Amino acid sequence: MDVTVALARAPYAPFTLETAQLDGPLPGEVLVRIVGAGVCHTDLVARDQFIPIPLPAVLGHEGAGVVEAVGEGVTKVAVGDPVVLSFASCGHCPQCDARLPSYCQDFPILNYSGGRGRGPSGLTVGGTAVSANFFGQSSFATHALAFERNVVKAPADAPLALLGPLGCGIQTGAGGVMRSLACPEGSSLVVFGGGPVGLSAVMGGTVQGCATIILVEPIASRRDLGLELGATHVIDPGAGDVLAAIRAILPRGAEFVLESSGLEAVVETGLAALASHGLLGLVGVPPKPESALSINLASLITYGHRIHGIIEGDSDLDGFIPELIALHRAGRFPFDKLITTFPFAEINEAIAAQHRGDCVKAVLLM
Ligand SMILES: [Zn+2]
Ligand SMILES: [Zn+2]
Repeated sequence: MDVTVALARAPYAPFTLETAQLDGPLPGEVLVRIVGAGVCHTDLVARDQFIPIPLPAVLGHEGAGVVEAVGEGVTKVAVGDPVVLSFASCGHCPQCDARLPSYCQDFPILNYSGGRGRGPSGLTVGGTAVSANFFGQSSFATHALAFERNVVKAPADAPLALLGPLGCGIQTGAGGVMRSLACPEGSSLVVFGGGPVGLSAVMGGTVQGCATIILVEPIASRRDLGLELGATHVIDPGAGDVLAAIRAILPRGAEFVLESSGLEAVVETGLAALASHGLLGLVGVPPKPESALSINLASLITYGHRIHGIIEGDSDLDGFIPELIALHRAGRFPFDKLITTFPFAEINEAIAAQHRGDCVKAVLLM
């Protein structure tokens, strides 16, 4: 079938809207008409080849839409169902069996090889195959092929066009706090970075009932939004010594820190902000593949500090995404406050606005 896609043809180049031909669903696959798709930093990381997906490629991995066709054997969803798309996983490795599919042993090949698992992408432009099925979807398009495992049925009354980011950025921040760190009621949490992931972590902290939630973020409008979403304190890292500011609020340090910038110096500050036996969660994409830390081992051992690398907030998709939608409906997880919508044709303007910090999370409407 003919579909419209936003094609990434070269690193750092704008996306171009083009007509493409998409195959029908194979057994176990689901064809989704995309209604809305979030723009995530990882899309740009892939376009710019820090994730080496072959170009040209159709990216986009925060899609939501309506099931248009299902392949043989699909029982989880039916034609007409509203669905959120998320990352792909194999369903039969030890991590998938443990309901931790974001650590699936086949995660790289299923999510950024450019094909549908080990098979062809099913997408051609002008008769030439292009990379697709990015994170089991490629939702910068009017239609996408997903697997039964990475579509999650949404309630009919949920705001479908806005749900896509629940499948990546929002579940990463919220799940980082609610699942990976599992902050208990009354605990203290510091979140570094007030982008979509960090602000979702702040909301996750309010759901958990954290007594202290400190957001460290340089952009004033994002600090204000953090306060609106439940942060008890905000710190501008440009205003002075961040560690001193944290210790002024939490003299013993923080029980939990979630770091969403990926910058080495900020990770080191996060580690230094921990209380004894505190836990540091890392969700930020580092600036370079070879980015690394220098850690004082005696200090790490003496204070029992723990570090937890986190992908996708340890979300199990079928349990966690419906949980976030239900919390949103109950008014306890207002993730829509992070979102600004743009027409699909304005994808490059949306990316620029997100990069400038004019909006927190851009969602493209197809
Ligand atoms: Zn697996
Ligand atoms: Zn993402």
